Amino acid sequence: MPDYREIVILGTTTLRTGSEIAAAGLIPEGTAEDIDAVRATYSVAIPDRVAALVDPSDPADPIARQFVPDIRELEAAEDELADPIGDEAHSPVPGLVHRYPDRVLLMPTLSCPVYCRYCFRRDRVGRAEGAPSAEDMETAFAYIAENPQIKEVILTGGDPLSLSDRKLGDLLSRLSEFSHLNNLRIHTRVPVVMPDRVTEGLVGVLTTRLPVWMVLHTNHPRELTKDVADVCNRLVRGSVPLLSQSVLLKGVNDNVDTLTALFRRLVELRVKPYYLHHPDRARGTARFRLTLEEGRELVEKLRGNISGLCQPTYVVDIPGGYGKTPIAPADQSVDGSNWSLRNFQGNSHIYADR
Ligand SMILES: *Cc1c(COP(=O)(O)O)cnc(C)c1O
Ligand code: SF4
Repeated sequence: MPDYREIVILGTTTLRTGSEIAAAGLIPEGTAEDIDAVRATYSVAIPDRVAALVDPSDPADPIARQFVPDIRELEAAEDELADPIGDEAHSPVPGLVHRYPDRVLLMPTLSCPVYCRYCFRRDRVGRAEGAPSAEDMETAFAYIAENPQIKEVILTGGDPLSLSDRKLGDLLSRLSEFSHLNNLRIHTRVPVVMPDRVTEGLVGVLTTRLPVWMVLHTNHPRELTKDVADVCNRLVRGSVPLLSQSVLLKGVNDNVDTLTALFRRLVELRVKPYYLHHPDRARGTARFRLTLEEGRELVEKLRGNISGLCQPTYVVDIPGGYGKTPIAPADQSVDGSNWSLRNFQGNSHIYADR
């Protein structure tokens, strides 16, 4: 494969069925039925430009692993949940989640351009039922109007950039009318998996009274091709600040070299790595999970060895809806007012608090 930084891929269609995925050479012969069996329960979509990033000769390809369905998805482990981060418990009106006082999630759509096999909302995304209606959106606007402590509205889903320019523009300008809001935010995978969608027209729609911050979801450096770099450039020139979120996934990016390359590449594209998420306990996703201890060790190896700009915060969502929390380094202990702090070389030093 050529250097991913030089690759430009044009894509127009999306693979959805077992036979389409088999025809693209992404699965072993005779397993198309498995794909369709998974598809009866969970949404499947692989844009052909994402399929083009897969190395078909590698049975452990990290791109394929994220998007190609696996029959093991139909087995749910006992500790897995349909709603692992407890969205339901904090949803005062349909399509809106209010867990933290000053910010809400708003889900204008449940469609995504690609369906990630580890998705924490996999029980809901890609279904017609459960998608918010126009009336639900009005109820959500009314809720935001009545709660002036809300300073930030985070559009997520589903992928908000799967809306048309007109729908997204209407939504952003409605939100911009609330004088108590400070900023808007969009969480999306579109610029990475469907860069063609990020037209000048779309960038224009993102220019509203309120600043719109964008958080790109990406997990592997190979996803960040030349065309994705061009799109980041276009967004930055359009005054859209860029952050990233990644999920730490076994067999995809759970090693120091891949994470280093991913975060360096993001900074090269003017994207600040924001969060590295520990995988949630969504149903049928056991093959992606590593332990918190394994995650913490990996993150500790990054500390000090790559630029601070390249370091995201490693967080876990406490199952049941209790919120996100950073996983602190293991190397700090307090004895009275003496802190023992370990540096990136593994040496401990005392910080005496007075
Ligand atoms: C993750 C999340 C947010 C955003 O949290 P930040 O730390 O501000 O990125 C907001 N609301 C809910 C319900 C969330 O799960
Ligand atoms: S893009 Fe986000 S919401 Fe959509 S399937 Fe992937 S993780 Fe889930």
